[in-house]
Amino acid sequence: MKLALIGVGQAGGKVVDALIDYDRRTKSDYIVDTIAVNTARADLMGLRFVPEAHQVLVGTSRVKGHGVGADNELGAEVTAEDVGDILSKVDDLPVHEIDAFLIVAGLGGGTGSGGAPVIARELKHIYTEPVYGLGILPARNEGGIYTLNAARSLQTFVGEVDNLILFDNEAWRRSGESLESGYSEINTELARRLGILFSAGETDGSNAVAESVVDASEIINTLASGGISTIGYASVELDRPKQGLFSRLAGGPSREADNGESMNRITSLVRRAALGRLTLPCEIAGTERGLVVVAGPPDVLSRRGIERARTWLEEETGTMEIRGGDYPVESNFVAAVTLLSGVYNVPRVKELQAVAIETQRDMLAKRQSSAASLEELVDSGDDGLEPLF
Ligand code: GDP
Repeated sequence: MKLALIGVGQAGGKVVDALIDYDRRTKSDYIVDTIAVNTARADLMGLRFVPEAHQVLVGTSRVKGHGVGADNELGAEVTAEDVGDILSKVDDLPVHEIDAFLIVAGLGGGTGSGGAPVIARELKHIYTEPVYGLGILPARNEGGIYTLNAARSLQTFVGEVDNLILFDNEAWRRSGESLESGYSEINTELARRLGILFSAGETDGSNAVAESVVDASEIINTLASGGISTIGYASVELDRPKQGLFSRLAGGPSREADNGESMNRITSLVRRAALGRLTLPCEIAGTERGLVVVAGPPDVLSRRGIERARTWLEEETGTMEIRGGDYPVESNFVAAVTLLSGVYNVPRVKELQAVAIETQRDMLAKRQSSAASLEELVDSGDDGLEPLF
């Protein structure tokens, strides 16, 4: 499936960089083009793969290229004011080649949190291609303001996109790691999941023909549930001589896959993917739609295994709308990706909202009491001082 990526804010840009890196290393070739949007010049300069000509600095008249300092209302305002600059960059993209847009942003900050929903709204007005979001939730230890930003942005963003894929930094952070090296690992993990999912829908003619290949329309139909999505992943190394990691397969398939070992390997991989660490932890029962992609060398891609795994996921989620297929790649690994679309039982979102409401209440109370305290501090009494003007 061909995508145009738009990274908004610092996290948005860095994650897009990581997605491009994976796309190029593995020759997945699902990214057609990219744009990075920011209010901070320095963040744009830090990008490795989004070319300068595809970068848009917004809000310069208001914030002079210094960022919006985690103020997402300001992020939304300046993005809306300069949205013409972003749209003209989108206009330069080969939109006829893409199946969808993906807007990527960290929801806890200012620029991405406020700007991403604005860009989504504009793209949906103009283009017929689906507009998806990839939103990153802040970790708990980032504090109240980031949580409040994320909860407000989530509420807005989900209403402006065709589907919002969420990634929760809380579920992925490891204690004792520096923030930067932690993010780089997290971003690589995210890139792998999205890379396998979206490139599964790509066949360039040189590939082995999969028996039940996933195509772009199946990904689009899965995401058509709307709402919020989460992605699971699991992989296992095969016990045989090493080949490249997920490089595209050039030769034809030799299919002896439907033996018991291959079948069991696939069903257990799909279980691990769906029940293990999801990008957004949630209860999978009650999910509206799902997609299972199993990637690996064709001789171990058991069609019956995938069928069985699909049936298992239908039972586990309680929906009949589970799509699935295989993705033949030359690799020493077999990997399963599960896209669960339209998830509703997500305790983390409820927790985020509760902390956000408390933060909002505290901030308001603090603002009121601070105003009163300042008045009391500078008031010099009845026979006191006169202000200058
Ligand atoms: P903005 O530039 O104002 O949009 O704000 P940032 O993107 O810097 O930060 C927003 C949130 O994104 C932070 O609170 C973090 O939770 C998260 N974040 C920042 N950088 C990264 C990154 O490289 N990877 C991931 N997964 N999250 C990040």
